[in-house]
Amino acid sequence: MATEPHSCTCFIIPPSMLRKLADAAATPAERCILLDQCESSAYLRGQRSLTPVAAGIASVGEKRRTIFDGKHKSTLPGKLARSEGGLAVADAAVNQAYDGAGATYDFYREVLKRNSIDNKGLRIDSTVHYLNKFNNAFWNGQQMVYGDGDGKLFLGFTGALDVIAHELTHGVTQHAVPGGLVYENQSGALNESISDVFGSIVKQWKLKQSVEQADWLIGAGIMAPSVGKALRSMADPGNKELTWSGDEQPKTMAGYVDGGDVHINSGIPNHAFYTAAMALKGNSWDKAGPVWYKALGLLTSNATFVDMAKATTQAATLLYGPDSAEQHAVQAAWKVVGVV
Ligand SMILES: [Zn+2]
Repeated sequence: MATEPHSCTCFIIPPSMLRKLADAAATPAERCILLDQCESSAYLRGQRSLTPVAAGIASVGEKRRTIFDGKHKSTLPGKLARSEGGLAVADAAVNQAYDGAGATYDFYREVLKRNSIDNKGLRIDSTVHYLNKFNNAFWNGQQMVYGDGDGKLFLGFTGALDVIAHELTHGVTQHAVPGGLVYENQSGALNESISDVFGSIVKQWKLKQSVEQADWLIGAGIMAPSVGKALRSMADPGNKELTWSGDEQPKTMAGYVDGGDVHINSGIPNHAFYTAAMALKGNSWDKAGPVWYKALGLLTSNATFVDMAKATTQAATLLYGPDSAEQHAVQAAWKVVGVV
């Protein structure tokens, strides 16, 4: 048997963002809450590595969503709130988590022929109302977890389909990349980017948007307008008008941040995907998405950006033939961001 794959406690909001927001907090009490959440995020991230992956969670071979109510506590998964086929409940967050997981499952099944997170119909578990006013959402190696946000900076994390698909894709990456992707350095930034890529594709697919119509934003709608429009932009990483004032994502290798957080340097592979998808035109899920998806199986745990450039180029060759327009578009995209 192979060793346990690398999994992560993978957050949508980078700790550096919470720290910056804490620095700008209006009152000491708010600052304290934000810093406390940074610390609990760091704690959860460290804790994860000790937990076996997906232990005890059965694969059932079909769509099976289970939503739990965390009741503002830290115990997971919490109290059962809605299971597969159950009617909508009064709690909007429960229904959003249910519908978002459903759209993501349907996308992977219909477009990429993947049966759930592990391709064997793994149950999709989500907990909403995690902790009190928790400003984050994460995948913990086994399930998705959503905070409500504090209502002032963040408005709740189940309100954006791309955030839900981002978190679920961390589970896909854990299973689709042989051995999983180590959640630090370039492999960690790739892990984050892959979640942004499929997060955005799932949203575009659900909205039936072409690459020209898509906004290419991650997390639009989860932030209070006073904080920003979105967490990140794949079209223009680091554009503070499009995102929020602290966005420091580089767009190309010229801006690569040595030792940067996985959510920072992910701007580079994000922009490579955007560039390839724009060159291929039409819908992101028709060509660019399948190329990126096929590349996952060609990576190793410590893959670098150069490895991803090679894997996607190889995937394009496998899907569309050597010297195809698709292969050239993918290769050219990695040149635009300075990786090759
Ligand atoms: Zn993430």
